[in-house]
Amino acid sequence: MVQRDTNAQAEVPPGASKAWNFHPKLPIGLSPVFDMPPKPRAALAWLLGTWFKLAPPLSHIVLAVITVAFLLPPIETMRTLDAGWMLQIAAINFGFAIALGTALHTYLYVFAGQQMRLKFDVRPMEKSSRFTFGNQVWDNVFWSLASSVTFWTLWTLWTILYFHVAANGWVPTLSSIGQSPIWFVAFFFILRFWQSFHFYWIHRLIHMPFLFKHVHSLHHRNVNVGPWSGLAMHPVEGCLYFSGILIHFVLPSHPIHVIFHMYALGLGALYSHAGFDKLLIKDKEAMKAGSFHHQLHHRYFECNYGSEEMPLDRWFGSFHDGTEAATKRMRARKKLIFAPK
Ligand SMILES: [Zn+2]
Ligand SMILES: [Zn+2]
Repeated sequence: MVQRDTNAQAEVPPGASKAWNFHPKLPIGLSPVFDMPPKPRAALAWLLGTWFKLAPPLSHIVLAVITVAFLLPPIETMRTLDAGWMLQIAAINFGFAIALGTALHTYLYVFAGQQMRLKFDVRPMEKSSRFTFGNQVWDNVFWSLASSVTFWTLWTLWTILYFHVAANGWVPTLSSIGQSPIWFVAFFFILRFWQSFHFYWIHRLIHMPFLFKHVHSLHHRNVNVGPWSGLAMHPVEGCLYFSGILIHFVLPSHPIHVIFHMYALGLGALYSHAGFDKLLIKDKEAMKAGSFHHQLHHRYFECNYGSEEMPLDRWFGSFHDGTEAATKRMRARKKLIFAPK
């Protein structure tokens, strides 16, 4: 770990990048699960290291179990399109998003609970006319929540559509865990890979010049990010981002899978844009927060379209491992892409 801030005065080891206040050990890695030849021990260590801590994705499974047990309307009521259960689903999504976004932002940025420790980029949230209301935080909150078109399209409408269709038996479902316990467990892993795969491709799509200009540029106004930047998307991007739920229309899913998947997308974006590598409580590491992999994408644009869970960026030549050599390679590639023909 490399730390360079006013509080810690840590020594800067060779290989550290001067471009950041903090960055994890470089070069950053990607999941070894898909490495060839296979590396079963490394793959298992990665999966255990990322899945068995009370941090995403495990925290999303816990929250999904609580939601399905206590908060989700009974499946039978969702057979007909009725305002009651639809509003209940909207309230669940709004409630968790507001609670998590507010908690992360207040702790990290308002009360500066860990000052600059483990913060990737030292710059504060911007006050600039580039943003709606001239303020990055309010802009991000607005485009995440207050823009009803965005929010309803993003998350709630997809969830409502799925449960209505599933309640009517129009798609394959897993009515109980006992019906297929192996599939029940395995599907969580598949969903994690699916999320990474789907995100990579929709992300490449919205980086095409027309869609970038009219859609994705709204998210990319955030060069430095905070929790609320995660869901600050144009409605078209939101609709594509949450369309990953379509996998549940094809593969048999339990409600816990669907809610987990939606939390991984919705709440996961708040974590991954936190701007800090980990949350510290009383100087102790409490949980994983931001994603340096994605922070690199926000700063350099033409790299790291996917996530660490699948090495798609490596396979397609867009991986930035955080080193200065990778920045040089990426700039050379950009020159080739954007050179006048
Ligand atoms: Zn992008
Ligand atoms: Zn982002």
